[in-house]
Amino acid sequence: MASYDYDLFVIGAGSGGVRASRMAAKHGARVAVAENRYLGGTCVNVGCVPKKLFVYGSHFAEDFDDARGYGWTATRPNFDWNVLRDNKTREIERLNGIYGNLLDGAGVDTLRATARPIDPHHVEIDGRTVSTQYLLIATGSWPHVPDFPGREYVITSNEAFYLDAFPKRVLVVGGGYIAVEFAGIFAGLGSQTTVSYRGPMFLRGFDDGVRNFVAEEIRNKGVDLRFASQVKSVAVTAAGARTVVFADGQTLEVDLVLYATGRRPNIEGLRLRELGVALGPNDAVIVDDTYRTSVPNIFAIGDVTDRVQLTPVAIAEAMCLTENLFNGGHRRVNYDNIPTAVFCQPNIGTVGLTETQAKARFGTIRVFESSFRPMKHTLSGRKERTFMKLIVDVATDRVVGAHMVGAEAGEITQGIGIALTAGATKAQFDATIGIHPTAAEEFVTMRESVR
Ligand code: NDP
Repeated sequence: MASYDYDLFVIGAGSGGVRASRMAAKHGARVAVAENRYLGGTCVNVGCVPKKLFVYGSHFAEDFDDARGYGWTATRPNFDWNVLRDNKTREIERLNGIYGNLLDGAGVDTLRATARPIDPHHVEIDGRTVSTQYLLIATGSWPHVPDFPGREYVITSNEAFYLDAFPKRVLVVGGGYIAVEFAGIFAGLGSQTTVSYRGPMFLRGFDDGVRNFVAEEIRNKGVDLRFASQVKSVAVTAAGARTVVFADGQTLEVDLVLYATGRRPNIEGLRLRELGVALGPNDAVIVDDTYRTSVPNIFAIGDVTDRVQLTPVAIAEAMCLTENLFNGGHRRVNYDNIPTAVFCQPNIGTVGLTETQAKARFGTIRVFESSFRPMKHTLSGRKERTFMKLIVDVATDRVVGAHMVGAEAGEITQGIGIALTAGATKAQFDATIGIHPTAAEEFVTMRESVR
């Protein structure tokens, strides 16, 4: 190893790359990480963190209204986009600094420049060439916008975090995590919001009960959800608005069109094919279960492998990889029962299998469902409802899927995720005493299966 400048050279200082760099250094490796954009990657800069701050910000509109039922009378204060945007940016800059300090503190060489691999053991950066035993590709993903006339007049989530002016009318295109989260943000902050999704029901891959329930709740909040809807073209008006023409001939004028149509692996400029690294569909870097690519000393983790595009998964992969490479480990990441939340409004929390997946895998299942008006809204008068669902494999009595739509669904589902990881049975859920009065107690009090 001593003949190389570094033991590990990481390209990309996002969630996966930063964790891999720090952990490798902690295990005694000599590590460099190259980053040509922002420290912390998508999650910290244009993803999870600023998104969640915007979700908090957008929810105040309802909170001010709900307070009336509790005796508070006040006119609803005005919203100032510039304040939210700039406060968010300051917080992100603070986090960028923390990431820098963490890397420095771990003894990692942080190189703020574009790294170009020359061969599997050499990387060109800042006009010099460095050598490395192992190379880790952790360059993440980038929003993908399909081709259509007027593509240049739409934005992606990257730009949505830095808008100069807050749009009065917004069209969000797509039906995944980002589309529904931003629809909730814009609607909550006061935009007239439309969502256009190409299929019959958005959030493909989620439990059907969740999809139908959340669609109704989002519609109740005034968002115009259009399914089986395809954008044909986008043009700009003299006043700077966007005219959207749909495949069925309808038109819509908005101030902003946000495309949230998936994210693709970011491999630009890395010359991976020339290095002999095998790529899959969408240019995903193909890895084995130790994150090794087709070139033995080159590894890849996180979004660039296009498997599970979630920060905690990239971090788990980083921990596993560095433990195995530099601490004699033989670990594998367990991809079962990954809990996840969609911060639409109300939130979705989900872990384990959908009803359809469970039926296909186990044959005989029992399904428990509950939907109710949360206690808070008995006085606020809000119509919002909460939905919960458990799916049980009859042969083992194990809970194999848990799903929720409602306030704090993400917070609640994290705990349920531990139960599923531990292999909890429905009898153990039933034997757990509820915390009263909470919404979460419903997960341990659903006694009668609906199917
Ligand atoms: P998703 O893959 O979740 O959703 C993409 C959406 O765009 C789907 O509804 C898809 O439709 C649609 N779509 C794809 N291509 C086209 C096209 N050519 N024309 C019209 N519609 C199209 O991607 P996102 O961009 O929402 O998010 C990327 C990933 O980031 C997520 O999958 C998730 O892993 C992660 N993420 C996680 C978050 C969280 O944990 N809370 C938050 C945000 C992102 P169809 O279903 O028909 O294919």
